Amino acid sequence: MKLATKPNILILGAGYGGMVTATKITKELGHNQANITLVSKHDYHYQTTWLHEPAAGTMHHDRTRMQISDVVDINKVNFIQDEVVNIHREENKVSLKNTGEVEFDYLVTALGAVPETFGVGGVFEHSFNKWTVNGARQLKEHTEYMFAKYNNEPEPREEYLTFVVAGAGFTGMEFIGELSERMPKLCKEYDIPLNKVKMYVIEAAPTALPGFDPELVEYAMNLLENRGVEFKINTPISEVTADGVTLKDGEEIKSSTVIWATGVRGNPVIEKAGFENMRGRVKVEKDLRAPGHDNIFIIGDCSLMINEETERPYPPTAQIAMQQAETVAKNLHALIKGESLHEFKPDIKGTVASLGGKEAIGVVGNKKLFGTSANFMKKMIDNRYLWILGGTGLVLKKGKNPF
Ligand code: FAD
Ligand code: NAD
Repeated sequence: MKLATKPNILILGAGYGGMVTATKITKELGHNQANITLVSKHDYHYQTTWLHEPAAGTMHHDRTRMQISDVVDINKVNFIQDEVVNIHREENKVSLKNTGEVEFDYLVTALGAVPETFGVGGVFEHSFNKWTVNGARQLKEHTEYMFAKYNNEPEPREEYLTFVVAGAGFTGMEFIGELSERMPKLCKEYDIPLNKVKMYVIEAAPTALPGFDPELVEYAMNLLENRGVEFKINTPISEVTADGVTLKDGEEIKSSTVIWATGVRGNPVIEKAGFENMRGRVKVEKDLRAPGHDNIFIIGDCSLMINEETERPYPPTAQIAMQQAETVAKNLHALIKGESLHEFKPDIKGTVASLGGKEAIGVVGNKKLFGTSANFMKKMIDNRYLWILGGTGLVLKKGKNPF
């Protein structure tokens, strides 16, 4: 009797897309229906959506991460800690930095994003641009070092206490929200008058948070200005240097801490693997497969989907990555059983952004939220993801107090 061999499902990246795929697929498939392997750089999963908090020092970085083995059933999923270096699309295998090659029958690529520079020079050399646990830890420690250094110089230099955030998108606004909230405490701790600190947010577009509700944008800007933040709107940054930033109009701002948040592009592995892409993102089919590949799914920030109502791409968000992962788990099951695949239909519930302390802004359904009600909603959204991933136990262990 010839036993049917089990298909190999390979999931790349243990972020929102990869983790939800791994946990859902183990529930979708019966015992012994497939070999499931998850590959990621670290043995922990981190919540990218919380990283502005440890980066500004308002939360310990350990709160944003959890061991993968605490969430994914490692009796059902083989975890490999390694870095993906290439995907050989036609040969159905993936090269890993240390482990060598891993073959697959079905592949789910969920490797997230990297910073977009739009050709601005000096970003990688002179700015803080990594929205990862290690990136957040480095920025927090650098900020504290700048404060410590200031009072130890014969002539204190203003640039030590000058913070420049590049980009007033959601990442830039959430980060400056946390930093500006923490600033009075930092100043007190390091014996520095608050008025010595300068915080800039520099935005190329004619408004902060382009495309978002103008009333909420105004609320956020007023709140942040009251905390000492200065906005420079309609002012693209043209270069980042060792001394700070140069703006398109020629002005230079001296700063020892430039935080880059001007948007993202898909993981460079996508381009290296030769998928047709736009800024590292693959325009996927409705069932989330890469065009021309029956066995390769691409989700999260590496994927691109057009919103048919606006004819613009959906923004890369955790909300979409998690919803895609649920569809991919169903579609892997369908492929294995020889059934037809499901179309992915995004269900955008809204957007809520924190602004530090108990402040936030957001739109949920048709409802605008400000201040404490938005802050409550934001914390509930953060907790909901934990619940999707690990149920009530994970919410109790890692969740946020919404009050
Ligand atoms: P990720 O969650 O980034 O996961 C990618 C994983 O792949 C990581 O574990 C990474 O370590 C791993 N990896 C990367 N490269 C390799 C490699 N070569 N080899 C092996 N492993 C690799 N979206 C929202 O919907 N709501 C929010 O409130 C929100 N807030 C945000 C706040 C901040 C500060 C930032 C930066 C983003 C925020 N986003 C938010 C966007 C959201 O975080 C992303 O859209 C989401 O993380 C994308 O999920 P993903 O699974 O594609 O990638
Ligand atoms: P983004 O693309 O949303 O915003 C980047 C901003 O940088 C834009 O306003 C852009 O005009 C500006 N910019 C670009 N080049 C510039 C330059 N040279 N000088 C000055 N400004 C420049 O990117 P993001 O804020 O990094 O967010 C990435 C993704 O993550 C988005 O999809 C966003 O919706 C999502 N996100 C969501 C939340 C939330 O829902 N709370 C929080 C953070 C991020």
